[in-house]
Amino acid sequence: MEKKVIVFATGNQHKVEEVSQILGENYEIKSLKDINCFDDIPETGDTFEENALQKAQYLHEKFGMNCLAEDSGLVVDGLNGEPGIYSARYAGAQRNDEDNLQKVLKELGDNPTRSARYKSVIALIIDGKNHFFEGTVEGEILKEKVGNGGFGYDPIFQPKGYDISFGQMDASEKNKISHRGEAVKKMVDFLNRSY
Ligand code: IMP
Repeated sequence: MEKKVIVFATGNQHKVEEVSQILGENYEIKSLKDINCFDDIPETGDTFEENALQKAQYLHEKFGMNCLAEDSGLVVDGLNGEPGIYSARYAGAQRNDEDNLQKVLKELGDNPTRSARYKSVIALIIDGKNHFFEGTVEGEILKEKVGNGGFGYDPIFQPKGYDISFGQMDASEKNKISHRGEAVKKMVDFLNRSY
């Protein structure tokens, strides 16, 4: 079977690797760099869904290729749902993972309500049609960083039922239970059923 090429509207190499690993051999994921797109793709929606679709539509209109975009973030109950859709830029436009994570720790302080979840929404535009896939992983915010793996808020996020943080898990272990893993698996099921 010929590989189906899908462009992933992200500059985040971690996400490209995570998604490629889950998608397997029948699909080739191209990054924005691979197609020489260095545009600052607008992301002005109020929800994960709106942002994912906006990014996918931008790419589809410009290049006419099959494409997917993912919008994700950390929703912290003790911070009224922050950082949410602002996860990548929580501590400012520099979009720095360490600054963002420190801001969550600082804002949450000793707040005993530490429940949180990662959410991921994928918008896929394939053969001109829009499709959405969602994933969530529940967990809690630790009092300090544990582990150096993953990216973003992973060293302070401990998934429910585990006694280690996402920062201590290897990629395949994280993919099995992560928000993005769940959303990508739903997309793979759809692709395998439909193509
Ligand atoms: P986006 O690229 O605009 O969707 O921003 C996603 C942001 O949410 C990332 O920059 C991280 O801050 C956070 N995030 C999403 N998924 C993860 C994850 O799996 N681990 C850690 N942080 C994540």
